[in-house]
Amino acid sequence: SFEIIFVGRSNVGKSSLLRELFGAKVRVGKRPGVTLRPAHVQVSNLLITDMPGFGFMSGVKDRKQDIVKDKTVHYIEDNAERIQLGVLVIDSPSFPQIVDRWDSKDQIPIDVEMFDFLREVGIDTIIAANKMDKVKESDYDPLLDEITVRLGLEPPWQNWRHIIAPISAKKGDIKALKGLLRDRLHEMKRDDL
Ligand code: GDP
Repeated sequence: SFEIIFVGRSNVGKSSLLRELFGAKVRVGKRPGVTLRPAHVQVSNLLITDMPGFGFMSGVKDRKQDIVKDKTVHYIEDNAERIQLGVLVIDSPSFPQIVDRWDSKDQIPIDVEMFDFLREVGIDTIIAANKMDKVKESDYDPLLDEITVRLGLEPPWQNWRHIIAPISAKKGDIKALKGLLRDRLHEMKRDDL
């Protein structure tokens, strides 16, 4: 079996994306601050895992974020052999500022930390750069370059098209991601033979 794990901060559009990709089969109805366990759905021989969003709960936001991070890390460590693919969903327009805010405090933002961690444990990870519909055409490539740099990759972003998929879950424009997922699935099938 083949497991794909979806991770991201709260509000990046992970639920919207999962709905676009797999219909209403994944997590239905969010209960922010309550849902700490991963949600699973089986699509033929594909196991889709929706990890809770690294989120904010007023008053205890730091603690909740830590709990979600710990649980996600443990889940990934425990299941790393089965997880062939990670999808990190980001809110593209706000990603550079969020990373810079953490950097200025000498901390690693949770998304970048998760990207590094997934790759460290050997999980091929795709960045679903969501909400690109909010970005005007002239800012499109510069923003994706900025995201590339914040992820620790060398620009231009076009060199990372096998990793970075600019999408808009809201507009249903997710073909870049679908293409990458399809490529990975084909590769895995070939390897299995
Ligand atoms: P989750 O918390 O990551 O599961 O995010 P949701 O799917 O619930 O979306 C959070 C908010 O972002 C909602 O208001 C969505 O309508 C909005 N959203 C999701 N995807 C997009 C997108 O591609 N573009 C824009 N502009 N908004 C989006």
